Amino acid sequence: MRACQVCEKVEANVATGYGITLCNGCKMVYRRHTLIKEERQEPIVCNHSKRCHRCTLIKCLEFGLKMFRESKEVQLLKALNARNAVRSSNFINSQPREDLNLKEIMRRGPIKFETKTVNIQDLNSHQWANLQMVTTIEFMKTFDVMKHLTETEVTGFIKKTYFNTAIFFMAMNSYFSGQSAMMFPGNKDVFPEETAPIHEIGSSYWGLFNSIRCELIAKFIELQVSQDELLLLAVVISCGSIITEKPIVIEDANGEIIINHPPISTLGSQFIQSYRDFHLTALFDNCMKNENAHGHIRYNNLLSIIQLVTQTMQKLDMTYHLFQLYQRDGNLSKLVREFF
Ligand SMILES: [Zn+2]
Ligand SMILES: [Zn+2]
Repeated sequence: MRACQVCEKVEANVATGYGITLCNGCKMVYRRHTLIKEERQEPIVCNHSKRCHRCTLIKCLEFGLKMFRESKEVQLLKALNARNAVRSSNFINSQPREDLNLKEIMRRGPIKFETKTVNIQDLNSHQWANLQMVTTIEFMKTFDVMKHLTETEVTGFIKKTYFNTAIFFMAMNSYFSGQSAMMFPGNKDVFPEETAPIHEIGSSYWGLFNSIRCELIAKFIELQVSQDELLLLAVVISCGSIITEKPIVIEDANGEIIINHPPISTLGSQFIQSYRDFHLTALFDNCMKNENAHGHIRYNNLLSIIQLVTQTMQKLDMTYHLFQLYQRDGNLSKLVREFF
């Protein structure tokens, strides 16, 4: 008889599975929680029992087992497309919302979207930007990885990249409606009207604003990216660059030591990394399937889009400071203001 590598129990039914030695109980827990779903899932919390699902999964993660798998019924692309359909429909069809910051949004649980009663043409760019970000945040909340994270980690995760992901969706929407510049529905410019005087100050600003509007879409057009490719990239972009932050130790005025823990723990980062890798592998497989021998070239070309999002964000950071400098930031929604 062998011992299960995860729970260390010695049993007759311990066997090799998923590359390690597992008992039936651990195998069941692993299989149950690693299959991806279409809908948002309940968090898995530690119940301090011998058969704790969370602790079992953490052990499996330590042994290098994949934390995310597809089933025949729920394939990754099918699940992603279904979630994106919800996001897209909420963006187009729901009513402009109260201006809340991220903490307030997270505290209120699942967001209720109400049907638009106003004409699409009557929405201003602040209202569209807010809708874009709120629907993106709601999309991110459905990620399978969220069930492995604490509440603080979920907020920390979303806080880091909701704007990047929203910009990406903005470009994606415009690309699919045949535009060569980022625009909100009804041909509304992504930059608020009151910032127009800044565009006109000098040609360098004009270039800056225009590269934000056009560069990503130009790349989409050049590569003729598909919706499947874009959705896989959207998740990778949401996961951001995985950096494990260390606690910051400071001494206050009274000589007391204060430890500020990063919002995402090392364990949380590992789950996020596993989720990111799962989507990168799916993107690679998709390229190999569609392009055969040229699959790896396609894959590398698609990865360059991630870098382009980072560059666009750096430019947006500059424009945000321009808005402040010229005092045109008064109406920006809290989700915009808070991010920069
Ligand atoms: Zn076991
Ligand atoms: Zn536990």
